[in-house]
Amino acid sequence: MQQRRIYLDNSATTYTDERVLQEMLPYFGQVYGNASSQHFFGRDALKAVDKAREKIAAAIGCKPSEIYFTSGGTESDNWAIKGLAHARADRGRHIITTSIEHPAVMKTCAALEKEGFEVTYLPVDSEGIISLDELEKSIRKDTVLISVMIANNEMGAIQPFRQIGEIAKKHSVIFHTDAVQAVGNVPIDVVKDNIDMLSMSAHKFYGPKGVGVLYKKNGLKIGRFMDGGEQERNMRASTLNTPAIVGMGKAIEIAVADMTENNAHISALRDYFVSQVLEKIDHIYFNGPKDMSKRLPSNANFSFEYIEGESILMLLDMAGIAVSSGSACSSGSLEPSYVLLSVGVPIEVAHGSIRFSFGKNNTVEEVDYTVKVLVDTVNKLREISPLFKSVKGESKYV
Ligand SMILES: *Cc1c(COP(=O)(O)O)cnc(C)c1O
Repeated sequence: MQQRRIYLDNSATTYTDERVLQEMLPYFGQVYGNASSQHFFGRDALKAVDKAREKIAAAIGCKPSEIYFTSGGTESDNWAIKGLAHARADRGRHIITTSIEHPAVMKTCAALEKEGFEVTYLPVDSEGIISLDELEKSIRKDTVLISVMIANNEMGAIQPFRQIGEIAKKHSVIFHTDAVQAVGNVPIDVVKDNIDMLSMSAHKFYGPKGVGVLYKKNGLKIGRFMDGGEQERNMRASTLNTPAIVGMGKAIEIAVADMTENNAHISALRDYFVSQVLEKIDHIYFNGPKDMSKRLPSNANFSFEYIEGESILMLLDMAGIAVSSGSACSSGSLEPSYVLLSVGVPIEVAHGSIRFSFGKNNTVEEVDYTVKVLVDTVNKLREISPLFKSVKGESKYV
């Protein structure tokens, strides 16, 4: 029998859309100039970069001059937060973020704490949403930055980001958002949403890996992240990655144009999957917002009591189903997810968690197969789990 290959890890990365790949190809071939060169080879590359910049700006409602190309979401987060903190250190050294940010934000904040900055990590409720009241109360005279993600990578919770922007504006605090999971799934308008800086990454919306963008409002001063050439208005050194940038432009254009249709397809699959799993498997937590309008259409995150997420992942892998336990960044380590602990999942339960993230190419048939394999897998693992036996009352006899 041919091995199945079902990809349910679209929050870790997405495949590159064929139309994106085709758009990129000429820039590996005949159009290979350096976009900073002053001859026609350079001009041809620059024209393509400018076109991509315009598409990305249009997708989030900013000006092309507010788009800075980077190597991905991680660099954009690092640059935005460190760049702003360093530029405003004389005004204040307090930053507000949340307890469920991606490591690219978490570890950046931790690095700044070592330099003497103070960071408030806002807690979230049982569904992964911050309290706007608490956010406002935590703003101090020396607060220079609020960094809150639009959508969480592990359990899909979408923050009330427009209200966060309003609060930041009211208190003259800069608002940065990690929108890596949100772009292509959630409509964003940086002007209406009062967003001063925004991070995104092409490979999360069917574009190539290794390219991202930092949107930074014109006039906002932040430090440079790397020293070197004068690319990107002398703010981000290094030769522009023309093929990747072209791909990112095409990918965001498609993502925004198809957003409604894709979200309808993906959320229908996800909702069907969730209802099947909840119906067929007991002793299980459905993590993140129960109100599906408050979570990414792609995301389903479950904790299966009495068994290990790693074991589930391995058995699904053997059956040709690709998922993630906790976040991709922390899998491999045996630490339970800090995101799930933040929403109150007990530590021993958090160990048994799996994220299923759906994409535009997944099918109902794949969901049916996955549910079947998952039910068998959970039953099999629980049969050999001493914890589960004692819950069922069988421990008396062993
Ligand atoms: C994937 C991801 C990142 C990191 O983006 P890279 O382009 O892989 O560096 C940052 N934040 C969130 C929320 C993500 O999902």
